[in-house]
Amino acid sequence: MKRFVLIFLILMSAQCAFALDIVYPKKNNVVINAKSSFIVGSANPKKELTINGIKVNVHPSGGFAYVVPLKVGKNSFTIISDGEKLIYDITKPAPGASANPAAPAALKEYEDLKYAQVVNENSPLRSTAVNSGINRIAHLQKDMPLVLDGEKGSFYRTILGSMKTGWIAKSDVKLIDSGASLAELKGYDTLDTPEFNIYVFHLNKMIPYELVEGSPFIVRLFNVENNPENTYELKIPQQRLYGYSARFSGTDFVVKIRKVPPVDKSHPLKGINITVDAGHGGNESGAIGCLGNLEKNTNLEFARLLAQELSHRGANVSMTRNDDSAVGLRERVEFANEEDSMILISLHGNSLPDGADPIANNGTEIYYYYNQAKPLADSILKEIVSQTGMNDHKVRQSSLALVRNTNALSILIELGYMINPSDNSKLVDKEFQKKAVKAIADGIESFLKI
Ligand SMILES: [Zn+2]
Repeated sequence: MKRFVLIFLILMSAQCAFALDIVYPKKNNVVINAKSSFIVGSANPKKELTINGIKVNVHPSGGFAYVVPLKVGKNSFTIISDGEKLIYDITKPAPGASANPAAPAALKEYEDLKYAQVVNENSPLRSTAVNSGINRIAHLQKDMPLVLDGEKGSFYRTILGSMKTGWIAKSDVKLIDSGASLAELKGYDTLDTPEFNIYVFHLNKMIPYELVEGSPFIVRLFNVENNPENTYELKIPQQRLYGYSARFSGTDFVVKIRKVPPVDKSHPLKGINITVDAGHGGNESGAIGCLGNLEKNTNLEFARLLAQELSHRGANVSMTRNDDSAVGLRERVEFANEEDSMILISLHGNSLPDGADPIANNGTEIYYYYNQAKPLADSILKEIVSQTGMNDHKVRQSSLALVRNTNALSILIELGYMINPSDNSKLVDKEFQKKAVKAIADGIESFLKI
């Protein structure tokens, strides 16, 4: 009887592993408005798989991904493997009567200045009147007063000194009756702690600012009286940045710049605070791999291994989640900052939109937003590519919440494409996972040793 149960279980599991399973499209009869889509899933790699009679390559792990061009109307796909047959319909809508594209919003300059106050924490001050991309000058605190000289679409234009302007979303401010255009800077103090160089600028009101990374590091305060172009600039000699923050405390502007950490070359990670972030979690599954594996779980597996590896090498590691809980994006960043982390690494598996090619897109890519984090991203990607053989899908600058954090060197690693059968088979492979986290740890170490 026992033996019978065992054989039954083996048969069941074998059957489950090789049953024809479609993970994308997520359900039948979907509407997709793109030139193409893809059918992604798993099937028995030893049997022939066909879609509308055409033989489709199945990776030895069982995963497959196949691009299907879409024509307007109903597109029907018959998927056959090992005697199983599934029919999926995808409808591509007819192009709508081409409505005249909305005319670009016109700039309206005010005859008299207007005054406003920031109503949301961390409101982006942008260099262009566009609500996306890498056009952020600073993130402004709630209650900061601003002087407005115009508007365009959903943005107000705000004065930054006498030669520059910036843009803030109308929804991030409220108009107020009056205000002062310029602030008075009474001077600044410097504080020297073991970890930070701190600059405290004594002002009589909050004003917009800009921090420019580089050597020197520039603190630029706008709308300060008795300064050329109403802009005060302090150039701070700094070789390399390891995180910094800027915040008003009352009307004092406090800039904290992390000092170059003392690095023991034989144990570079010793004493370094690192936050490891497993992307997604809870009812946010993230992408889905062709074997039906969920990104949130894969991310957590990598995060746990990475945390272990870094701890073994002497780092103080904290994790934004160590179970299947849902954690907000802002919460993750705040957690890393509360832990005083010098490095924040977010781990993800990549996905693709309809119209893209899941076979051509493969490999590891690393995102950063602030330039200070790019050398770390470069160093880690170099180690991942050379130690694991993953395709170099480049270090890229992108405006993602987890990397828009200056306090730590913040990067987001897309280890591989979950939709790509070869990448995905590696992401779920324990040996690969170990190799990848070793490469990440080596990449951090070689970055610290420079
Ligand atoms: Zn993700």
